[in-house]
Amino acid sequence: MRVIKLKKDNLFPFLEVISEKADLWAPVKKGDKHVFKVVDDFSKVELNTTRTILPPRKIFLPQTFSMFNISEKGYEEDFSHVTKKILFGIHPCDIHGLLTLDNFFKQDYLDPYYLEARKNTLILGLSCWPDEYCFAKSTNTHIIEEGFDLFFTDLKDFFLVWIGSSKGDDLIRLKPEFFDENLTDKDIQTYIDWQTARDNAYKWSINFTALPDLMELKYRDPLWEKLGDACLACGSCTNVCPTCNCYNIMDKQFLGGKDGKMIRYWDACTLEEYSEVAGGENFRKKRADRLKLWYTHKLQAYISKYGKPSCVGCGRCIVTCPVDINVRTVGKALLGEKEDAFWLRFNKEVTK
Ligand code: SF4
Ligand code: SF4
Repeated sequence: MRVIKLKKDNLFPFLEVISEKADLWAPVKKGDKHVFKVVDDFSKVELNTTRTILPPRKIFLPQTFSMFNISEKGYEEDFSHVTKKILFGIHPCDIHGLLTLDNFFKQDYLDPYYLEARKNTLILGLSCWPDEYCFAKSTNTHIIEEGFDLFFTDLKDFFLVWIGSSKGDDLIRLKPEFFDENLTDKDIQTYIDWQTARDNAYKWSINFTALPDLMELKYRDPLWEKLGDACLACGSCTNVCPTCNCYNIMDKQFLGGKDGKMIRYWDACTLEEYSEVAGGENFRKKRADRLKLWYTHKLQAYISKYGKPSCVGCGRCIVTCPVDINVRTVGKALLGEKEDAFWLRFNKEVTK
């Protein structure tokens, strides 16, 4: 992979040039958090973010979109959500999230709505620094070697730019004078020092190797009932997880009854209606059973199929769940450690 250098001052002018080719999405501030948004004022692009509220999945599969337009003449596929895009500022864990979705949406039945959006979006990754919720080092998703067109490692005075595809190389060729092909020994040492410091900055870890077996061994453990009793079934953990992919579809008929649309929208296995079938039967009426399904996917099933968890260590479920049920609470409890906020509160409540 070719690696070149970009002076800090040249980043925003470079983004401005390439954004003439497509909508540029980047992290910007929203209150005290960050979101991915289409940007035209580059001074608003945030370089020192941790996680965005929603993962980049929303750029490829919006929360709601039309799959088909229906009229008296028949139906036609609707790809209006697919436009040329450049996604800048995506971190390694979220690129791993997209690679996880790629596996899912390419298996058995190809999902054209996702795959077309992927084909039309260039990925410009950006390095990051872990906060107290990140644990991407435990899932080995803090480093990335594929899945991007360009990747920018922020080394304070300059960026190392890793060229991951010919499309990425084409972007560089739009402004070659911004870049420097010559890396010095000092530049390389700066990178090594940065990488060591970043790896040491992770504040906690979890042993994922043991979790698939523990999901089986503790499938009937009372811990699931305790988690189920506390869960609000709000679905927020699913909405924020970069690897969640469930959806539902509904027909929408317009007034007059002749035209309509088939709408696809995000769904969540933590919601009660998710497992309801015709006739009103519900195979996972209990919250505990629904949580068990979610965590089976994250910690066990995907590992048996693809050799890695479908958790990329982004920490979004940790910062989002209103009752502190998250991959740390559950993973640590499976490992026999119940020391986080949920279990401390739970233990306090039962000893009252
Ligand atoms: S399970 Fe939680 S930490 Fe893991 S990828 Fe999903 S939201 Fe991120
Ligand atoms: S685990 Fe938390 S975020 Fe997920 S559905 Fe339950 S209460 Fe909501």
